[in-house]
Amino acid sequence: MRPDPEALRSRLHTLGFDVVRFAPIGEFTPGSKAFADWLELGYQGEMAWLERSLPKRSDPDLVLKGAQSMIVLGVNYGDTPARSGRPTWARYSLYRDYHDTIKPGLVAAGRELEQWGGLSDRDYRYYVDTGPVLERSWSAQAGVGFTGKNAMLISRDFGNWLFLAAILVRTDLPANAAVSRRYQDQPVGTLCGGCTACLEACPTGALPAPGVLDARRCISYLTIELKGVIPVEWRQAIGDRIYGCDVCAEVCPWNRFAQVSRSVLLAPRPEIAELTLRDILELTPERFAEVFKGTAIKRLKLRGLLRNACIVAANIDAQDCIPAIHRLAGNHSEAMVRAHAVWALRVFGLETAELVHLAEQEEDEVVLAEYRREELNPGTPPRSTS
Ligand code: SF4
Ligand code: SF4
Repeated sequence: MRPDPEALRSRLHTLGFDVVRFAPIGEFTPGSKAFADWLELGYQGEMAWLERSLPKRSDPDLVLKGAQSMIVLGVNYGDTPARSGRPTWARYSLYRDYHDTIKPGLVAAGRELEQWGGLSDRDYRYYVDTGPVLERSWSAQAGVGFTGKNAMLISRDFGNWLFLAAILVRTDLPANAAVSRRYQDQPVGTLCGGCTACLEACPTGALPAPGVLDARRCISYLTIELKGVIPVEWRQAIGDRIYGCDVCAEVCPWNRFAQVSRSVLLAPRPEIAELTLRDILELTPERFAEVFKGTAIKRLKLRGLLRNACIVAANIDAQDCIPAIHRLAGNHSEAMVRAHAVWALRVFGLETAELVHLAEQEEDEVVLAEYRREELNPGTPPRSTS
């Protein structure tokens, strides 16, 4: 007898997945044309791994030969972020690295699949976020939610706060419907109606068209993915966001349906949001490793966090951070950190004589350029319009 798909869905729910839906894999891979067009425009910036993944993302058969279905899974992380006059962190970062905590759930899901359908471990492959799978588009196809104008997957049950994972499997599962029949004609912004709140709220105009993200100007990319110097024209717009950005998600009215996370597959780390900028600017490598152990933030490395902290301190006029930033400008071993420290000191209006003294000890051209820069904040870029 054919096993019951609802029994499988129920078991995966029990493992901690808040949404479990199925999409058959056929000729058409949802989102692949839009993804190729997006790469063509260069919107991925330095994320070359996305270009390399295009063939596999466009053809699931290259990922798992003979795959017949995609199981799309959502894990709700809709807790209210801690805010207490501290720098702002992307919500997802205030957990243990979700790749690590969701993976055991996927391993267990694989075992369930084996038992449920008489499959072997060669009959499925799973990914959480970083695999060559267009999770967001498959999720929209299967009705986990819809792709909003903010380029996020938006759930009618959980708002903008779902981690997505996917399992490709060599078995036939019944298709779940998209959120609306309109999805076929309108795969982006299906349930946005006339709302344009996210497009208008983006501090850097990184959403040039509904559902299209220009990562090169997105604060999430600038503060996390970009490894080097952050272009000066975006620094002021970063505001108090030290790691990532949730603005286009936070403003979305669909968040009225957000729910508190069950945290079965997540481990909250709210204490990170309690760190002050001074705490961060004074971190030693050892302390950094200790505080951010097991989090996604650790991948940014101390140098990246100090870079971001210098920008935030200047943006919010955190005068108590000046001594720490002064030390970074004069002594830090990485030119990138010194460069952002110099920019911050100049925004603070440090006296010319002091800057000249610091500059006399500097040899790196990237840092010296920060001393010479005439315009510190070339202005907020134009907001996008829809
Ligand atoms: Fe990126 Fe923030 Fe703009 Fe959204 S609001 S596109 S996360 S910069
Ligand atoms: Fe759609 Fe408005 Fe949400 Fe943007 S903020 S994704 S336009 S509903």
